[in-house]
Amino acid sequence: MKIEFYRHSLEKEDKNEVAKVLDSVFLTSGEWTKAFERKLADYVESRYAVGLTSCTNALEITLKYFGIEQGDEVITTPMSFIATANAVEYCGAKPVFVDVEPDTANINADLIESVVTPRTKAILPVHLYGHMCDMGRIRKIADKHGLKVIEDAAHCMEGQRDGIKPGQVGDAACFSFYATKNITCGEGGAVSCNDPEMYDWLFKARMHGMTKNAADRYSKKYEHYDMDFLGFKCNMSNIQAALLIHQIERIETLLSARQRIAQRYDEAFLGNPGIKVLGTLPGTRHARHLYTILVDPRKRDEYMHRLQEAGVGVAINYRSIHLMKYYRQKYGYKRGDFPVCERIGDSTISIPFYPKLSDEEAGYIINAVNSMTNS
Ligand SMILES: *Cc1c(COP(=O)(O)O)cnc(C)c1O
Repeated sequence: MKIEFYRHSLEKEDKNEVAKVLDSVFLTSGEWTKAFERKLADYVESRYAVGLTSCTNALEITLKYFGIEQGDEVITTPMSFIATANAVEYCGAKPVFVDVEPDTANINADLIESVVTPRTKAILPVHLYGHMCDMGRIRKIADKHGLKVIEDAAHCMEGQRDGIKPGQVGDAACFSFYATKNITCGEGGAVSCNDPEMYDWLFKARMHGMTKNAADRYSKKYEHYDMDFLGFKCNMSNIQAALLIHQIERIETLLSARQRIAQRYDEAFLGNPGIKVLGTLPGTRHARHLYTILVDPRKRDEYMHRLQEAGVGVAINYRSIHLMKYYRQKYGYKRGDFPVCERIGDSTISIPFYPKLSDEEAGYIINAVNSMTNS
């Protein structure tokens, strides 16, 4: 057996939509981008969405919109993909980590206030694996100290907690359509928000700060553009948007398929004392992005390699960011600083988890995992 760690869920209609773009005039941002942004904003129930080329630049330009710069601090989690902390670095600011909750691996809101300083400007929570953080709680802490809240929702388009969706309580939410995400166009990202001024800035910021895009300039009577401020270059193209337009229409069906697999995995690993799986807290609708198992940290790498030898694709999501060389050297972070996060980072293995995983493949994975860890 050979089971890929990830397979995308593209269908004929996605490819046909891209073909339409290729037969049209504007391959760059245009009507497909606009249509996808509308669908995304509607889906997450925010007023606006801006299509970009990655979640990394979504995080970066959103932080920059809030004026985060050299000398500022942003409180975030060490249990995430490095992009979360790197976005803070791109602003010249310092990512200040706090430890995570053992049950969800999300940022531990109890610890946030203890690291707030006069330099703190924002909180950057990550809805890890698709399980939302307690946004009501985080918003309260932020308001008390006058901080912005930017949500890294790269795993969590479909998630909810206490009836709240990503971006509804935070000042903005950032999404990823990278190659292995729940819906994908290879590389892509977006920001959702409710503030018209912020939307206007982000819309221009993704293309140099220009006041008119190509479709506006060329399809009607030519109009001169101006440049309001020094922006960036990270606008989502029609090609990327065309790939996403029908995936977002199918997003609930795709989630149901992952929910079924998650339930099967949960039941299969329940009786195995060699494995721990993270829970879902009451009031939470899990977006089910990744399925991770926690094993004995002394045996994690061995298990990981044995699964690969058995033909099962695996990944590690994630080793603690604060233990990456760059962060250790720059800020002096060290082992022992965030023990809950480190323990998860040393124990975790992600196993194949996507709608096109067959029942037979899931059975094979369960067998491989259980026979290896339960002895
Ligand atoms: C994938 C990911 C990102 C980065 O997304 P890109 O679109 O690849 O830039 C950021 N944060 C988290 C939690 C991610 O998993």
